Amino acid sequence: MVDDFEILASNARIILDSRGNPTVECDIFTSYSMGRSSAPSGASTGKTEVSAFPKGGAAASIEFFNKNVKKAITGFNALDQKGFDELLREIDGTDNFSAMGGNLSTALSIACAKAVSNGMGIPLYRYVGGMGISVPEPLGNVIGGGQHARNGTTIQELLVSAEGKTFLESITVNSKVHRRIGEILQDRLKGQGIGVGDERAWVAAIKDEEAIDIVLRAAKEISSETKVKIRVGSDFAASSYYKDGKYVYKDHTFTKDQQIDFAISLIKERGFFLLEDPMDEGDFDGFAAITSAVGSRGLIVGDDIYTTRADLIRKGIEKKSSNAVLIKVNQVGTLTSTMEAVETARMAGWKNVISHRSGETTDDFLAHLSVAFRSYLIKSGTVGGERLAKLNELVRIQEDLMD
Ligand code: PEP
Ligand code: MG
Repeated sequence: MVDDFEILASNARIILDSRGNPTVECDIFTSYSMGRSSAPSGASTGKTEVSAFPKGGAAASIEFFNKNVKKAITGFNALDQKGFDELLREIDGTDNFSAMGGNLSTALSIACAKAVSNGMGIPLYRYVGGMGISVPEPLGNVIGGGQHARNGTTIQELLVSAEGKTFLESITVNSKVHRRIGEILQDRLKGQGIGVGDERAWVAAIKDEEAIDIVLRAAKEISSETKVKIRVGSDFAASSYYKDGKYVYKDHTFTKDQQIDFAISLIKERGFFLLEDPMDEGDFDGFAAITSAVGSRGLIVGDDIYTTRADLIRKGIEKKSSNAVLIKVNQVGTLTSTMEAVETARMAGWKNVISHRSGETTDDFLAHLSVAFRSYLIKSGTVGGERLAKLNELVRIQEDLMD
């Protein structure tokens, strides 16, 4: 059995992500199986996340692979995921994958797990997560801007999460909200200045406040039409518009205290259920002020503040900065480090929200990890092939789990 999972060969190649940018895809072969995975890329990246590629981009990652990785992983037992991930770190020789790039390490790490689960004939979610698992709810962005578009809102993402009886019903309702918002924007702007961003959320030449009103209105309308509860949230990605101690929106500027009040008011007065990165990534105390003010009424999720790093999550737990964490594998570069982050959050009673990146591939490993990690939510857009690759896989997984 163990010998069956000896790595016999591996490949790395460049493919394009959904933005048309190069990324890395890897194959790992054992005696009876193959695992293939590709890694996405972010646009609003956290300062402490590993960088996707070394100097020289995706091509430099491939060169590094051919020179330093291919031979070194041959003969390794793919069943030893932790050992494999440690070996990648050793080969890289830095503490943040800056030699090979986080996207190469991510693609290799996930390809290794897939090679084993394929060889065992069990789904990836079962191999990584064991028994007693369930599917998360979908969380998808419907209007946005920030680093994901030009001329959109300052806030990066306005999000909806339908609570259908099945995952299919939930994603169907989320996509209906997306469509309704398109109609509302068309009516409002008569086709002028409407587009879509990197993750297929609507982008419109309107102020943030108006976008919030539109999302709340569309969610209410679709909820009464479908009789499905729809929750509204947001990823402010606030670091991207934090300049010289202030939060600079397209039509106004907030001080730190005003930003905190604004975030709290969205939860307490406008009924938002979730806020991701409401403050700059360095402001653990600002996060904590919001988390304590909203209590159990809202989920405060840290993305850029933690970048899926267990040590930073631990700091957030100590400072009570949030009550949930966003999980992105290629922020840390291996499955093992991601599992450590998930476990650290779980031990503190925090929920985890697993997330796509703005530049995605059609790899559906995120769907499997969301189940394995018992994620409360999966953030993977509402429409678009690379987003639905994950969401549709969860429809299949739920069917599997109900059998
Ligand atoms: C995010 O900020 O949550 C996100 C998905 O964006 P990116 O992939 O650009 O970091
Ligand atoms: Mg984010």
